[in-house]
Amino acid sequence: MANLGNPQETIAVLQRYGFNFQKKYGQNFLIDTHVLDKIIGAAQIGPDDFVLEIGPGIGTMTQYLAEAAREVVAVEIDTKLIPILQDTLKEYDNVTVLNEDILKVDIRKIAEEKNGGKPIKVVANLPYYITTPIIMGLFESEVPLDSITVMVQKEVADRMQVGPGTKDYGALSLAVQYYAEPYIVANVPPNCFIPRPAVGSAVIRLTRYQEKPVKVNDASFMFKIIRASFNQRRKTLQNGLYNSSELRIPKEKTVAALEEMGLTPTIRGEKLSLEEFAQLSDILGR
Ligand code: SAM
Repeated sequence: MANLGNPQETIAVLQRYGFNFQKKYGQNFLIDTHVLDKIIGAAQIGPDDFVLEIGPGIGTMTQYLAEAAREVVAVEIDTKLIPILQDTLKEYDNVTVLNEDILKVDIRKIAEEKNGGKPIKVVANLPYYITTPIIMGLFESEVPLDSITVMVQKEVADRMQVGPGTKDYGALSLAVQYYAEPYIVANVPPNCFIPRPAVGSAVIRLTRYQEKPVKVNDASFMFKIIRASFNQRRKTLQNGLYNSSELRIPKEKTVAALEEMGLTPTIRGEKLSLEEFAQLSDILGR
């Protein structure tokens, strides 16, 4: 089978099927074999592994995954891509393509059936319009997960990786870092895709922690506090938590908690680490 990571091969397949890109599905297909090698290398896939791929497109990365893994399930929403995938993946008997919306698929059931409930690896060149719901959905639903290795917008990769006090730091950084250790594998320019996306991209690997890096009594309360603090970035934490309609925490209470933690009462949320948010959440939840 021809390597679809080769631009000419991708163009030939697209022409043969008269395929038209659908913008609404975030379709930017990879046409760079070096980037594909990097993704597969970073995902550390071995012959015993089960891999879930989100959005296989015409099957470019799926071919690489099928070569490296024991078994692959690829979930693709666009019905027009299904006959193409049947063609480009016909030599692989370890790949199943599901024509579904990934946000509606029961991934836990797939992990149970295909991998005996053991942690799975997720690999994808993600559709950018749903990056956050896909990643947070994987972490928050109790899917057994080993790692997620994905192509995302560069700016989003940066937000997932940074710590307190930087401009990209926010609710997404904290949410991701509560579940996983992020590592940016490579930056990928627009010319590695067809059609070219308007923004730069990056491959990020999120390795799920076996044990959470912080202990907190009520994680969902902590994330309410985190969201409220970053909703009003320029406001102090005491204002953010008071103005949030789902929290309405009296300012004196927040100030007292901050004092107990040895922090200044006028501090902003963007200065707090995950550990400090966990501590604040436990004090405010007492
Ligand atoms: N993996 C291919 C590649 O690297 O060339 C295609 C990547 S493209 C950025 C994203 C893919 O996700 C497209 O094939 C698109 O149709 C598919 N997609 C978009 N929304 C989806 C959804 N909700 N569920 C499953 N697949 C989706």
